[in-house]
Amino acid sequence: MTSPAQMAGYASDGLGYKTFPPDAVVIPADADDLARVIAVLKGVPICLRGAGTSLSGGPVAAQGGVVIHTSRLRAIRKICPEGLWCEVECGVNLNRLDQALAPYGLCYPPDPSSGPVCTIGGNVASNAGGAHCFRYGVTGNYVLGVEVVLLDGSVHRFGGPAGGRGRWQEDWKRLMIGSEGTLGAFTRFWLRLTPRAEKAWTFRATYADLASTERAIHGLVRHPAFPVAIELMDPRAVALVESSSMAMGLPKDHFMIVTEIDGPAALVDRRVESVAEVLRSAGSKDVQFGDSPEARKNLFQARKAMGGLLGQISPDYLVQDAVIPKRALAELLQLIYDEADQAGFPAVTVMHAGDGNLHPNFLFDSSKPEELEKVEGISKRLMERVVAVGGTLSGEHGIGNDKSEYMGMVFGPDSLRLQLAIPQIFNPRHVFNPLKVFPERRFAA
Ligand SMILES: Cc1cc2nc3c(=O)[nH]c(=O)nc-3n(C[C@H](O)[C@H](O)[C@H](O)COP(=O)(O)OP(=O)(O)OC[C@H]3O[C@@H](n4cnc5c(N)ncnc54)[C@H](O)[C@@H]3O)c2cc1C
Repeated sequence: MTSPAQMAGYASDGLGYKTFPPDAVVIPADADDLARVIAVLKGVPICLRGAGTSLSGGPVAAQGGVVIHTSRLRAIRKICPEGLWCEVECGVNLNRLDQALAPYGLCYPPDPSSGPVCTIGGNVASNAGGAHCFRYGVTGNYVLGVEVVLLDGSVHRFGGPAGGRGRWQEDWKRLMIGSEGTLGAFTRFWLRLTPRAEKAWTFRATYADLASTERAIHGLVRHPAFPVAIELMDPRAVALVESSSMAMGLPKDHFMIVTEIDGPAALVDRRVESVAEVLRSAGSKDVQFGDSPEARKNLFQARKAMGGLLGQISPDYLVQDAVIPKRALAELLQLIYDEADQAGFPAVTVMHAGDGNLHPNFLFDSSKPEELEKVEGISKRLMERVVAVGGTLSGEHGIGNDKSEYMGMVFGPDSLRLQLAIPQIFNPRHVFNPLKVFPERRFAA
């Protein structure tokens, strides 16, 4: 596709206010077609794109060139219940994989909130996380092997169902996971599966102040039931839900925690009361919990509503993906509130609290240039503080081109030199996804 109208949807990712129009978009019919496209494309940057839900400026043509959209590589090729693995093409949608695994009693645990839309290719390239990754771990923990097309169009398999042993060739998959499209184009994956949990209980608790909320988080993190998810919404996020058509009767000035335990029915049933007690004894007067699919959906609803709601009420939002030591939560929330209030932006914060993965969202209007400048200034000052308290730049969204300028905040010159040596091997002229992750990765024709 080359006409501007056809390509309009490809100029940005989830950060819709930053646009990078490609020169062309190609949708290969299958993996062979994709390899041929890469082999014949000479002298232009290439950017792989799954569903385009990235929140870090990953799947965009930052230096022009061709976007390769993987939407037709969407076959679930094999599910192996005995070996606990599956083989999928890169464009398979995450929730569709989950539906396909359910009849086998199997599960692929990583669960980014974009599950109804995002692809496994995008998940592996950005090493995606999600609410349930607190206990189960992120995407990289479940990748046994990747098939990747390198710059010359050659197809390689790194790892496989046997995890890189035997005839499954070089186990270089760890280099590929989280490489954000900078090393090659993924076409296929072998993923590790787990038995589906027999039963889950979901809990929701509200708190009048941060001190009691933090007590609840610390109590949950250490609880022997080992919750699968510990999610936090700040009062501004709760108020936003309550001021919308999705209102569900939550106290607007309270923090809210959503947590979940799962496992064998007999075991989790015995643990329910003790988890509820942790939430109550931390100071909540309103703890609700349930085990039916309907109750669980309702209890998670406010948290899951956030992404859509932000898009509904604001022309633009900037979301950060900071990882912080939990002890710094109060300081960083205060910084977010002070900065947002001073600039006059609504700010709402949600957090994968068990992992310390903080997502402040600043709502603004990019058609007003002074607002864009202000919000980017806030973002930078926030990340400087995050790094100063011992945190880091990304928990799950990746660096993309949105945070590439911040890499020097965390990594010294020696570390940056070593990291840059990897794309030098696979992709020396930065044909694949230039200007991503490192600002120095500029495509040279
Ligand atoms: C409402 C909302 C909620 C979200 N919640 C979460 C969350 O809970 N956890 C989380 O981790 N993320 C979350 N995200 C961010 C995003 O959904 C994830 O980063 C996801 O993994 C991106 O998948 P995608 O298919 O949309 O990939 P894209 O956005 O298309 O691409 C992401 C990156 O992967 C590369 N890529 C894609 N396909 C390939 C391929 N075949 N080969 C090589 N490189 C490739 C791209 O070049 C790009 O760098 C959320 C986003 C939204 C909008």
